[in-house]
Amino acid sequence: MDINDGTKTFKDLVKEVHEPGLCGSCGGCVSFCSAGELMAIGFGVDGRPKLLDEESCLECGICYMICPQIDILDKDLIDTYQWKSPIGQFKRIVAARSTNPGILKNATDGGVVSSILHCLLDKKIIDGAVVSKKTAQFAREPMIATSYEEVLSAAGSRFTGICGVEELSRFSTYSPTMFAIKEVANMDLIKIVVVGTPCQVHTLRKMQSLHVVPSHVVKFVFGLFCTESYSFDVSKKGEMEKILGISFDDIEKMNIREDFIIKLKNGETKHIPLEKMEDFVRSACLACSDFANDFADLSFGGLGSPEGWTTVLIRTDLGEAIYLDAIHHGFIEEFDKSQGESHNYTQERLGKITEFAKMKRNRALKNKNVDGNGK
Ligand SMILES: Cc1cc2nc3c(=O)[nH]c(=O)nc-3n(C[C@H](O)[C@H](O)[C@H](O)COP(=O)(O)OP(=O)(O)OC[C@H]3O[C@@H](n4cnc5c(N)ncnc54)[C@H](O)[C@@H]3O)c2cc1C
Ligand code: SF4
Ligand code: SF4
Ligand code: SF4
Repeated sequence: MDINDGTKTFKDLVKEVHEPGLCGSCGGCVSFCSAGELMAIGFGVDGRPKLLDEESCLECGICYMICPQIDILDKDLIDTYQWKSPIGQFKRIVAARSTNPGILKNATDGGVVSSILHCLLDKKIIDGAVVSKKTAQFAREPMIATSYEEVLSAAGSRFTGICGVEELSRFSTYSPTMFAIKEVANMDLIKIVVVGTPCQVHTLRKMQSLHVVPSHVVKFVFGLFCTESYSFDVSKKGEMEKILGISFDDIEKMNIREDFIIKLKNGETKHIPLEKMEDFVRSACLACSDFANDFADLSFGGLGSPEGWTTVLIRTDLGEAIYLDAIHHGFIEEFDKSQGESHNYTQERLGKITEFAKMKRNRALKNKNVDGNGK
């Protein structure tokens, strides 16, 4: 690992990430601060990290290095995961779905994430999984699931009404998973899965590269595709409802594929072009270049698969082993096997994912200087 001249600390994060509006409030820096007990840093009322006691800062540089918006460790990640353009390393790309009707009903797409977690818990391969749970209508928080029932309760993707550690009357599709990873250190869990967006997986992989506790208990990393997340103050709720053409109370589920999709409680589905959502995209997302969660063991999205199925990018040996195990034990089924050879679904899927990955990378380049490594 190459730390450049002089260790950069939280004050540099403020200058390079907070001030340009790139902080995505993942919570990584606060959760894993080496001076956590001394409260060197914490959260401000705006949900963003803040220096609380400069004297307590140990100037270790951990907060700076693990931030997803800082590229100091990107070269290490590129080497470790043999990253290549445009969507990282992968062995196979498939569409699959759960065989469990309960999971299928609640899931965002084909419920593959929840079903593989179910399989891993059932076979006692893991002790728990860091997921994100709906706590009320439009309220969601990170949680550690240790049973099938808890995995099921966390299936799906919805708007949340939280941001950071405090209730801030904001709606957001982002869930601060890092806080739950911190909690794992206080629990008797030795093998866990983390499910996260690309920015969260970047922070986690950087923690693993620096051996920051408790990243050693994370045995598998499940990455979600991510074009963008939305965040807005409660005062903008009416504006958002106008764009969607419905009341929030009518929403059953939401998802992003080629557009923003909302399923209504009355069974209807509405598709909103992503351009219409532009005003609600978090500024950190505009500078984010990873769509397909390039450093995960398995990446999941809906893009490229028929409705009700999940696209799965099988990236690592570990990812392949647990995917095949879930098929073998009947927790999930693969789409292609039952569809014959008449259509080249793999190329079609790959084409769409590549298109979105390039679009996101170009958008990030416009909004932030990306280093010469291609990330
Ligand atoms: C913010 C966000 C943006 C996304 N953007 C795209 C996109 O542009 N294109 C695309 O194809 N797919 C996107 N996805 C992924 C897609 O919505 C599905 O999560 C994915 O296809 C897996 O579906 P599934 O039915 O197999 O998962 P499920 O079985 O429903 O499980 C989903 C898992 O994701 C966890 N989760 C849900 N919301 C969050 C969150 N906010 N943060 C962390 N974990 C969460 C749940 O706890 C659950 O464990 C996005 C997901 C999120 C959360
Ligand atoms: S102690 Fe280390 S991790 Fe904490 S604020 Fe200071 S530099 Fe960052
Ligand atoms: S993006 Fe995450 S790690 Fe970086 S400054 Fe914001 S909260 Fe901290
Ligand atoms: S677009 Fe990037 S920063 Fe925004 S939620 Fe997705 S992965 Fe995180």
